[in-house]
Order: sequence, then C-alpha cells, then structure tokens
Amino acid sequence: MTSCCSLSHLLLAATRRLEAAGIPADEARAEARLLLQAALGLSREQMYLRPDADVDQAGAARFDSLVARRGRREPLAYITGTRAFYGLDFTVSPAVLIPRPETELLVEAALRHLEGVETPRIADVGTGSGCIAIALAAHLPRARAWASDISPEALEVARANAERHGVAGRVTLAEGDRLKPLAASAPFDTILSNPPYIGEREVDALMPEVRDWEPRVALTPGDDALAFYRHLANEAPPLLAAGGLLAVEVGQGQAEAVAALWTEADLKEVNILPDYAGIGRVVRGIAR
Ligand code: GLN
Repeated sequence: MTSCCSLSHLLLAATRRLEAAGIPADEARAEARLLLQAALGLSREQMYLRPDADVDQAGAARFDSLVARRGRREPLAYITGTRAFYGLDFTVSPAVLIPRPETELLVEAALRHLEGVETPRIADVGTGSGCIAIALAAHLPRARAWASDISPEALEVARANAERHGVAGRVTLAEGDRLKPLAASAPFDTILSNPPYIGEREVDALMPEVRDWEPRVALTPGDDALAFYRHLANEAPPLLAAGGLLAVEVGQGQAEAVAALWTEADLKEVNILPDYAGIGRVVRGIAR
C-alpha cells in the first residue's frame, strides 16, 4: 500500500478540522491524537516516539472517517466505544449515558458506607452502562448488586460490562422503571442512583455532544427536573435495611431541594457532598 502522510501531519490537519467544528483547541489536539491511536491501533508511546512515521492510505482513510464523526460532535466515547470509570474501562454505545467523573463520588460515598458490611446488598436505579453497580461489585468481592433500567438496549451494554469485569454472577440486571423490578430483592444496604435530572426545556441548551447524541431518557425525567428524586424519596426508604444508605447524584443547584425531600421522607443524617468544583453533587441519607 502506498503511504500518504506522516502521523504529525495527519494530527495537525485533524486538530484544525475539529477546532473548526467548534471543539476547543486543547481538546481538539488531545482528541485527534486519541482518534489516530484508535484508527491505527497504536499506543500513546508509539505515537510520541515516531511522529514522522508514514501512515498508509487505509489507515489514513480510517482516521478520516473517525475525525468526520467527531466533527459532527459525536462524543469521543461513542466513537472509541469505551470510557474509563473508577479505574475500569466501560463499553459504551449511544444506548447509554457516558459515565462521568462526578459519578465516581457516588461510588466513593457508597464504599465508605459499606466498609463494615460483610455481604453488601446494593441497588442501582437506572444503571445505564452499569458503571455504578459494576464498579462497586468489582471493588467489593462479597457484594451483590441489583441494577434496573427501563431501556433493554442499555441493559445489554451493562451486561457486556458486567462480563468484561468478571462480576456478571453478582450483578443482577432487571428491566423496568426505577425500583419496581428490584423491590423483590429488598432489603438493600444501599440504594444508589444517578437518575435523569435535567428539565426537559433545558436539554436544548446543552452542548451538542449531550443534546444530540446521549439518550434523552437518561438525561431528562420530563418537565419537573426533580421528578425522579420525588419518586425515590417515596419508594426507596421502605426497601432499605435499618441504617441503609440512600445516595444520589444531583444536578447543579438541586442539592438543597433533594436534601429537603430526603428529610421529609424521614431519612436521618441527610447531607450534601460537594464535587471537585465545590458544587453539591451527591445527596445522602440514612434509613431509620
Ligand atoms: N447510572 C449510569 C451512570 O451513572 C446511567 C445514568 C443515567 O442514565 N442517568 O452513568
């Protein structure tokens, strides 16, 4: 096969193209590099060591089609099919929300709570890629998790991830709305959720990667951004063991309102955990 251009040449051209598509300059360069690695099957080191290496036409064509997708603002994780979460690589597709670093705080809050529990029983409501339940099962070898999602396509992705991380035997996936398909497995030591929490009318203002590509059912519960939390406040406490933890991720500005719902639901030790930007991100409470 005849060669076309060097790695560094392709990288520069792709970076310009992504910038022109509205992706900020520093991200454009880093993402172009990751797409080139994906297209050519190269490691980071190989890319850095031989910037002048020639790329054959087939490789350049593969790279071109990946860059074109990213230029249409398809999220990088859907193009590469993977995203790291809590130290594990998760398979992702447009059927699931892409795991976010903020959500790792919810996993940490659960791990702290479950420290003294010998065989933890965990519920994950709206599991999507399965990242919360699977990260916990992987870190707690004696834990069992039950995870629900209303989307059968999402559950297929979660199943693939559970198998990928060797926890499929301890993570039960159930199709259905919220806690309904999980209630029969109660009581739980913790119930966790990163639910849809964006008001329907705010979705249009989101960045194109989210607005145009991520599943709407994972983003918004409808007009009332707090709707999912209101349901959880009613449905979760009766399914918790005494002393069990209800913890959720919330959107910016929602923490106080969700904490009030937890207090009204008669949970104790209700508090708000901030993310690295200082935004209230996790609301937790303990069942009596
Ligand atoms: N639980 C999954 C996550 O945290 C999916 C959340 C969702 O779809 N809202 O990424």
